[in-house]
Amino acid sequence: MKNTEAQVGTKTVWAGEKEVLVHGATQVPVVVSVAYNYDDMDDWYDVAVGKKQGHIYGRNTNPTVQAFEEKVRILEGAEAATSFSTGMAAISNTLYTFLKPGDRIVSIKDTYGGTNKIFTEFLPNINVEVALCNTGDHDAIEKEVAKGCKILYLETPTNPTVKITDIRRVAQAGKAVGAIVVVDNTFATPINQNPLELGADLVLHSATKFLGGHADALGGVICGPKDLIHSIYHYREINGATLDPWAAYLLLRGMKTLKLRVLQQAKSAMEIAKYLQTQESVESVFYPGLETHTNHEIAKEQMKGFGGMLSFSLKGGMDAVKVLLPKLQYANRAANLGAVETTYGPARTTSHVECTPEERAAMGIPEGLVRISVGIEDTEDLIQDLEQAFEALKKKQVSLSL
Ligand SMILES: *Cc1c(COP(=O)(O)O)cnc(C)c1O
Repeated sequence: MKNTEAQVGTKTVWAGEKEVLVHGATQVPVVVSVAYNYDDMDDWYDVAVGKKQGHIYGRNTNPTVQAFEEKVRILEGAEAATSFSTGMAAISNTLYTFLKPGDRIVSIKDTYGGTNKIFTEFLPNINVEVALCNTGDHDAIEKEVAKGCKILYLETPTNPTVKITDIRRVAQAGKAVGAIVVVDNTFATPINQNPLELGADLVLHSATKFLGGHADALGGVICGPKDLIHSIYHYREINGATLDPWAAYLLLRGMKTLKLRVLQQAKSAMEIAKYLQTQESVESVFYPGLETHTNHEIAKEQMKGFGGMLSFSLKGGMDAVKVLLPKLQYANRAANLGAVETTYGPARTTSHVECTPEERAAMGIPEGLVRISVGIEDTEDLIQDLEQAFEALKKKQVSLSL
């Protein structure tokens, strides 16, 4: 048999673990040791100066954490990877590794709330110029990038209206001015999108979401070429936002089912999006898998699947949301996503809680916008659940208008 490379589902199960298996164990051990013992002083020195492989101290490296990094690295087809205590640590550590006073960064307006806060609140403090373009306006992005920038920072699909940026197109613009092109791939997962193949330099994840998949562990990870990853690793080992080995173990275990989860979530998301389009009280539905989505063609080109995230707005605004959401049975109403349970959240309470209604309107986020992170429940049950909730909403609206 020809020795072909394993496919992605096989990699999620097997990749990155062999090195750390001990005593014939079939599962990765949680190594809790903070420090590592060396009887030979020369060995210790060689590991300490990086001449030899090994571990010295838990803030720098850990075998369980390394297995997690290795699995994500292989899934993203990268040369190297390093990890963090949270997704936000991955993002902030990366930005602070490369940005100096006087530098410039270009990004989009619809990045994750925490990321946007770094752009608007913290980077200006160190005299970094931040240019935020309208999400999906490729001409505007290219124009800002052409003025010169140290980093081009992208996120696609975005939160909560799942807008799409053409990674290949704007990465080219970034390359032309020598920028480091970073993509937050949290929503897509490595199952549906590999930004490095599309020309990005670095790809990062909030592992807290789909990679872990069970909403029980925080973590972040970034992948890319050895030199860039080493610089980011160095910043993190000194500044200390290290991934905990227990969390690394949970994330590793979660990742074994990543492909199965993502496929089921995308299947249900498509059905739910179509169902929502038939509802009279629904104003609009946002899902990149729908042909009506503004950037459906780009999504089809750069993504292998459309993912488990969608959103919709209700005609009755927040009043209607307050009736609909509590009626749902198979739902967490929570500020989370990427879990095995379906999770609903109004944008004004979750991703965009810090904005004023006017700011949300300017970003194209209606007050009645609800984000759904589709879980792995049976599709029919999720649709039926929505049916009974919409029925209850209809009754309530009739009784109110009487
Ligand atoms: C949640 C999230 C983050 C931040 O991750 P944490 O693990 O919560 O710090 C960053 N980007 C996106 C797209 C996210 O959804």
